[in-house]
Amino acid sequence: MSDVAVLGLGAMGSALAGALLDGGHAVTVWNRTVDRAAPLVARGASAVATAADALRAAPVAVVCLTNDAAVREILAGAPGTTLVNLTNSTPEQDRNLADWAAGQQMTYLGGGIMAVPPMIGTPAASVFYSGDADALERHRGLLERFGRVDYVGADPGRAAVLDLALLTAMYGMFGGFLHAAALIRAGGLPVVGVEPAITAWLTAMAGALPEMAAAIDSGDHSETTSAVRMQALAYPHLLEASRESGLRTALVEPMGDLLSRAVAAGHGDADLSVLADLLRDGRVPS
Ligand code: NDP
Repeated sequence: MSDVAVLGLGAMGSALAGALLDGGHAVTVWNRTVDRAAPLVARGASAVATAADALRAAPVAVVCLTNDAAVREILAGAPGTTLVNLTNSTPEQDRNLADWAAGQQMTYLGGGIMAVPPMIGTPAASVFYSGDADALERHRGLLERFGRVDYVGADPGRAAVLDLALLTAMYGMFGGFLHAAALIRAGGLPVVGVEPAITAWLTAMAGALPEMAAAIDSGDHSETTSAVRMQALAYPHLLEASRESGLRTALVEPMGDLLSRAVAAGHGDADLSVLADLLRDGRVPS
């Protein structure tokens, strides 16, 4: 029996299996497209022909496929095995899979990888896990090969909540950067020259997040030097400048819309953090 099986050898699954091999573990691998296992077999992994074989080859099986539909296609019951699902999933998909696993006498850990493949196995990587706490402790040594282990609770969907929340923040940042880059190019400047200023500005603005987080948790949005009313007046300028430059405004319109709605709903004097309340409660009339 191997120490661990890895199912799915795309960019991420291959990095995960590689980190386990680097850690000296006996690793069984499986991938739908057989050729992708070859580099790992050359490094000492054992390849098996079917997903069912892989799930029975070790006490713990790490699954990392494109999405939940793919996971559902390949899963087979393997009583006694701990299933660690590192496939990007919704919380509900993880909960349903945990129920399925329980029905197969398997234990389940949902996971969310906060890393890109080259970061796996380095101190920069971390992975959220949720689900069976005993299984996590039993396999902690293996899981630490990927990066920091962040156990976030017994609800199998909790890791996905946090994974998707962090990805949401990331896409907000990238979306903002991409629109800014288009605006800079339309203004006749190379993005490379302005990027250091953007990075410095984003870093400075990230410093506001702890206070915003506290305001969102407490519901008290009164402390601010940059009230929503001021921001709602300034925001249309970036939309106008974008339109004048012939840019699509799809990435930046929703924030302007929400700012105007917040003012209309009587939150003009509040901090920007109030927008989180408005999103959550659906209090702003559409
Ligand atoms: P890839 O596209 O590189 O690999 C996808 C994997 O899924 C391949 O092994 C592919 O097999 C397999 N697959 C897809 N559909 C099926 C199916 N129907 N049946 C069996 N196998 C299937 O993706 P990544 O490895 O990059 O991503 C894997 C997961 O990791 C995703 O959920 C992703 O969101 C997550 N992730 C990825 C990160 C990244 O930066 N790459 C970062 C953090 C998380 P085949 O080779 O046969 O096509």
